[in-house]
Amino acid sequence: MATNVSRPLPLPDIDSRPFWQGAKDGKLLIQRCPSCRSFRWPPRDFCNVCYTPGGDWTQVSGQGVLLSWTVQHHLLHPGFADEVPYVVLAVALDEDRRCQLLGNLRRATAEELQAGMAMEAVFEEASPEITLVHWRPRRD
Ligand SMILES: [Zn+2]
Repeated sequence: MATNVSRPLPLPDIDSRPFWQGAKDGKLLIQRCPSCRSFRWPPRDFCNVCYTPGGDWTQVSGQGVLLSWTVQHHLLHPGFADEVPYVVLAVALDEDRRCQLLGNLRRATAEELQAGMAMEAVFEEASPEITLVHWRPRRD
């Protein structure tokens, strides 16, 4: 079903702007606690683990493991009409398995997925301002 309705895109804010700039540059930047060194997503002004304020933006490898996924068949927004069905998945970063990101599956099908498999980030320009981070199976 073709549509002329645009997909909704993230709106960077003061907390997330470094992440989106990093993605635009092809880098996965994640906040890291200056005290306990844990990584966290989504960005916020204090640590999820020890509640220390602040965080350092750190480039991570863009590699992780697949935690879970679902195949979205139902059209929830007309901007995704050209994409259904699509896979939404959760990946835990290799640097800190407590830090988990959501994204869509790229360069593979849902039938190829297995929990715990190695994944890597794929950067996909969605607009001049926003590059989305999606995931594909790591083939090394
Ligand atoms: Zn901490």
